[in-house]
Amino acid sequence: MALSDAQPAGPADRTQDGARDRPDVFGFETSYARLPERFYARVQPAQVRDPKFLRVNGTLARELGLDPDQLETDAALQVFAGNRVPESADPIAQAYAGHQFGNWVPQLGDGRAVLLGELTDRNGVKRDVQLKGAGKTPFSRMGDGRAALFPVVAEYLGSEAMAALGVPTTRALAMVTTGERVIREDIRPGGVIARVATSHVRVGTFEYFARNGDQQGVKQLADYVLDRHYPELKAADSPYAALLQEVTRRTGDLVAQWMLVGFIHGVMNTDNVSIVGETIDYGPFAWMDSYHPAACFSAVDMGGRYAFNQQPQMAHWNLCRFAETLLPLLSEDTEQGKQAAYDALGAFEPAFDARFNAGLRAKIGLQTEQEGDVDLALDLLRRMAEESADFTLTFRRLSDADGADTGHDEQLRALFRDPASFDAWAQQWRPRLAREARADSDRKAAMRAVNPAFVLRKHHVYRAYDGILAGDHSPLDALLTVLAEPFADHPEHADLAQPPAQNEIVRNTFCGT
Ligand code: AMP
Ligand code: MG
Repeated sequence: MALSDAQPAGPADRTQDGARDRPDVFGFETSYARLPERFYARVQPAQVRDPKFLRVNGTLARELGLDPDQLETDAALQVFAGNRVPESADPIAQAYAGHQFGNWVPQLGDGRAVLLGELTDRNGVKRDVQLKGAGKTPFSRMGDGRAALFPVVAEYLGSEAMAALGVPTTRALAMVTTGERVIREDIRPGGVIARVATSHVRVGTFEYFARNGDQQGVKQLADYVLDRHYPELKAADSPYAALLQEVTRRTGDLVAQWMLVGFIHGVMNTDNVSIVGETIDYGPFAWMDSYHPAACFSAVDMGGRYAFNQQPQMAHWNLCRFAETLLPLLSEDTEQGKQAAYDALGAFEPAFDARFNAGLRAKIGLQTEQEGDVDLALDLLRRMAEESADFTLTFRRLSDADGADTGHDEQLRALFRDPASFDAWAQQWRPRLAREARADSDRKAAMRAVNPAFVLRKHHVYRAYDGILAGDHSPLDALLTVLAEPFADHPEHADLAQPPAQNEIVRNTFCGT
C-alpha cells in the first residue's frame, strides 16, 4: 500500500504500511527503553485520521543529523502524527511523579506523550524525540492523551523563540494537525508536536522512585543520568553529590536567563523541572509585555506561586525535593548526607546571582564592573514596574539611546506612563556610561546583542493560531522568521515587536493541552 493513502493501522501494526521494507531515516537509539520495565510503559501512538504538516524544523533536523527533505515526506508525516512507528524506535511513556503546586502527586507520567527514541546530534549529544499529543497511555488517568492545536502551536513557537534567545530549552522538530477534534471546554482541532529534549528525566522522575521506597530505582536512574548527561562527574569523589550540585547550578543559571528576557514559565512543578537544566513543558508560559515583578498569567495559579519574581525561590524549592531523593546515595550516615545536600544546594544562589547580575549590567550597556551597577539596573526595573513600561521594548530602545545626550529619548521615555521617571533614571545612567572606555557605537551593538527586539508575545500566538484556522499560515511564518533572529530589527515585520493594543491584551494563559 502506498503511504499517501495509508489507512489508520492497528496499534501493533508496524508492517502494513511497508515500513519494514523502507530504510528508516531516523535511526533511533533507545537507551531509556533498555532500563528496567518499571521505568516506563511500552505504548503505541494513537492513529489519527488526516494528518497534515504545519511545520518541519529544517534547521533542527540538520542539527540532529537528519535530512530535512526526508522529513517533509508523507512517510515522515505519518511518523510525526503517530500513525507509523519507525523500525528503529521503541515507543514508551515514561513514569514520573511530582509535586504540583506544592502537593505530592504519586503518579503522573507521560499521559499524552510517547518517547520514540534518541538521536545523536552533530555535537555528539544524544537527544530524545518525543511525540506530545500522541494518545492515551497507562499514565493518562482521566485525560484523552491528545493535544489541542493551540498549545502545540504555542509550544513550537515558545521553545524555538527561547532557543534563538540562547536560553537552554527543549526544541520543536515538527508540528502536525491531526484532522481530529479534541474536547476541552469546547471542541477544538487537535495537533501533535515532536519535541526534542536533551533529557526528559525530571526531578519528578527521581521522586517517583524515591517516594515509592524504590532505592534501587533511584540509583539506576541516577547512574543513567550520570552516564548519559554528566559523564565528566563520574570521576568526582561523590558523583551523586556532584550531580546534585551541577543540576542545581544549571537550574539557577537557567532561571536567571528567564528573568533577563522577561519569561514566566507558569507551572514550575517538580515534574516540569529538567534534570539537564533545560526549559521544559511549555504550558501556561508567557513573555511579559509591560513589566511587573509579580506578573502571573496562569489561569490555574491563583496564589501566584509561580509568578515572575517567585521563580528563583520555586526553582530552589524543587531542587530541595530532588536533593531528598538522593539522600541515601549521598552518605550512609544521615547527617553527613544532609550536609552534602546542603552544600550542593548552596550552588544555586551563586549561579543565579552571577548570571543575573552580569546579565543586568549587560542589558544597560555596562562592560566594566563598578559599584552600584546592579542597583542602577534594579532602579530601572523598579521604575518600569511603577510606570508599566514594556520589558522588551525598554531595553531594546535603551540600546539605541545615545550615550551622551537625551536628544533621541522620546520613543524610549514614552514607554513610561510618567516619562519623567525615565528621565530621572537616565540622569544616573549617562554619567555611569561616561565612565566606560568603549565607543558608544560599540556599546549600542553590544546592547542590541543581548536585548532582543522580538519575544513571543501572547497576542501574537493568538494571531498566528487564528491565521492557521483560517488557512493563512503567513502570520505563523512571519512570527517564526523574527523569532529565529530576535536580535535583528526585521523592519518588514515591525508590528511583531509591538506590545498588544488595549483590546489585544491576553490576561490569562492556559495549559489547555
Ligand atoms: P503538565 O501540565 O504538562 O505538566 O502535565 C501534568 C500531567 O498531566 C502529566 O502527567 C501529563 O501527562 C498529564 N496530562 C496532561 N494533559 C493530558 C491529556 N490530555 N491526556 C492525558 N494526560 C494528560
Ligand atoms: Mg509536565
